Amino acid sequence: MQRLLTTLTLAWLIMLGGCSQPDSLERIQSRGELVVISRNSPTTYYLDKTGPTGFEYALAGLLAQELGVKLEMRPAFSLDGIFETLQREDADFAAAGLTLTGQRQALYPHSASYYELTPQVVYLAGTYRPRETADIEDMSIVVLAGSSHAEALRALKQGGMQNLTWREIAEVDSMELLDLVNAGTAQLAIIDSNEFTVQQSLFPRLKRAFDLGSEQDMVWYLPPTGDNQRLLQSIDTFIDQLQRDGTLASLHEEYFANTTGVSRISSHTFTRNMHKLLPPYRELIKRVAAEYQMDWHLLAAVAYQESYWNPLATSPTGVRGMMMLTLPTAREMGVDDRLDAAQSLRGGARYLKNIKRRLPGDIHEPDRTWLALAAYNIGMGHLEDARVITERQGGDPHLWRDVIKALPLLQKSKHFQNTRYGYARGLEAATYVQNIRHYYSILEWQDIPENKALPPMRAEDYLPAAVSNVSLLAL
Ligand code: GLU
Repeated sequence: MQRLLTTLTLAWLIMLGGCSQPDSLERIQSRGELVVISRNSPTTYYLDKTGPTGFEYALAGLLAQELGVKLEMRPAFSLDGIFETLQREDADFAAAGLTLTGQRQALYPHSASYYELTPQVVYLAGTYRPRETADIEDMSIVVLAGSSHAEALRALKQGGMQNLTWREIAEVDSMELLDLVNAGTAQLAIIDSNEFTVQQSLFPRLKRAFDLGSEQDMVWYLPPTGDNQRLLQSIDTFIDQLQRDGTLASLHEEYFANTTGVSRISSHTFTRNMHKLLPPYRELIKRVAAEYQMDWHLLAAVAYQESYWNPLATSPTGVRGMMMLTLPTAREMGVDDRLDAAQSLRGGARYLKNIKRRLPGDIHEPDRTWLALAAYNIGMGHLEDARVITERQGGDPHLWRDVIKALPLLQKSKHFQNTRYGYARGLEAATYVQNIRHYYSILEWQDIPENKALPPMRAEDYLPAAVSNVSLLAL
């Protein structure tokens, strides 16, 4: 009798189970795909020459691996858009450098914290520096629309700071905010500490004024409806595991550390390095350049920009060697040892030549070389997007001096949402090419025996005025 009862209860339970809706974890597993809504920014998710990258992409990728499914990451074009996607249950969760706030917490289930950040008030060096919250009343402030910082400012205003005003910018990447402060259009921007650290090398005149409040948690948010219990549990166990085994710390290091990015190196440092580091590789560079019918000064300038002529250079994103080749590019170019200087130089030279060949025939020298270098840094797809933007803006997509103005726009959602390949670190690509041109001209100049001093360069020789107006002036 006892046995029969147990069997009946079991059958009943199985029936019940059969009728109930699958929970979100089951749905992920049966579709074989984890759908994550994110936003394009250097700290979250974007495409670079190694493919999709960014902290959130890496973290969500590890979870997908753990669950045995594929990762499908989609970009939203505003912070509000991220939460609207969750409302519609169009994603399993949001992973976008999102801060845990009171208002969001009341509406959305969230994961354990996987990073602590501090909101920072940023100002332009040489202008008035506020030291505490009371000082920012009456100043012009910009924040991302729908951000945790807008929420914090609203709370301060309700708390009695009646003269507090701010502008909310409809972007998903805080670079737009930094641009506004850099140009003097706004006095202050409020952005997360990790975002400021990553972008600071592009804006050397911007400084942290003070921290707005204390440390906050970065979390993943889940849709407000549906049965998310088990998914949430697996996420929290996963985060806990990554915290314990040190993976999370290395991801922080890899993606949030102060990247040198592509920053400007002074002519003097370059000239010093040219005398100190170049001699052992000069003949090799000349030989490889001759094989590919390239000006050796150009190849040397690219190699310096890539690795400071260090054949053993490696980066956490997996590019290595004197020409910092990705693994797929190296394979394509027949390089089997990326740390071998000759192989790396040959691979890089060949790759650059391939890119040049693939550019439309009506792009002439020297623009052809500068555009090819931009593609070498950012990828052909993103360069093509920048050329489309150039045309939309009334510029000439065959000319570097016009395309360079469009490249930084690939970081702004109002532009990149209408492109084929989306967000890209366009400002870095523009700087990359300008740096190479700068080194190239010094190398050429020095190579003429009677010229031992620095060439008489004017900034506009390598920094077109229009670009200086964007942000490059600060570089
Ligand atoms: N962490 C911010 C938020 O959750 C977004 C990034 C920023 O505004 O700096 O709204």
